Amino acid sequence: MRDYTQFTERLHAACASRGVSRVAGYVGGRPILHVSIHPDAPGPPALLLAGTHGDEPGGVEAALQFIERGSDAYPRMRFEMLPCTNPCGYVHATRENGVGIDLNWVYDRDDLPEIRALRDVVAGRRFRFVVDMHEDWESPGYYAYELRRDAPYIGDDLSERVSHVCPINHDPVIEGDPAVAGVIHPEPYAESRESRGYGVPVALYEEYTDHLLTSESPTPLPLQTRVDAHLTALTAVIEAHVG
Ligand SMILES: [Zn+2]
Repeated sequence: MRDYTQFTERLHAACASRGVSRVAGYVGGRPILHVSIHPDAPGPPALLLAGTHGDEPGGVEAALQFIERGSDAYPRMRFEMLPCTNPCGYVHATRENGVGIDLNWVYDRDDLPEIRALRDVVAGRRFRFVVDMHEDWESPGYYAYELRRDAPYIGDDLSERVSHVCPINHDPVIEGDPAVAGVIHPEPYAESRESRGYGVPVALYEEYTDHLLTSESPTPLPLQTRVDAHLTALTAVIEAHVG
């Protein structure tokens, strides 16, 4: 069992000098924390999510390390973060939440505190980009899904950068989608809502941003390698938006 108090204490310590944190909801008696880093920075914020699947701790650790030091490089960019969207799953190392639901496919559910917290954070906002950090237990290397409208993709540059810190999954087909150098540009509407449900990434791309990256690190590799992969990918996205 992972220690959620350790997570929250580390988060509060890291964000004390950089922003503000608040409780966006409770689930199973644990707070779902929303962090705003550089809340006074101008322009639209970025949105960072991690830990939607509780058995993918690399994203949560990457989010913490980003707050602890990575964010200092971008003082003029505001980051809204849910660093651990599924506290029960994180503590028990389960993909699903505490009542057995895969949160990634139920954006339209009104009865789940985790989804309500996410909706509360995004309500009325437009994000310059969204990065959602996940892991894949079966992948030999890093890969990512990139969705973008009205501007060039950055997947090539992102994959090249990540290749210096983590192996890339070079399979031509990943999770059923065509991929090039570990980057997939999925058709967001191809998967019917009837069969899988309303995906969180689909909802965020449809309603809240023009650029969304789902970052997938290979769980079999050491934790810090996976964290470095996420942080390198995040840096590529940030730099594409700060010019
Ligand atoms: Zn996942």
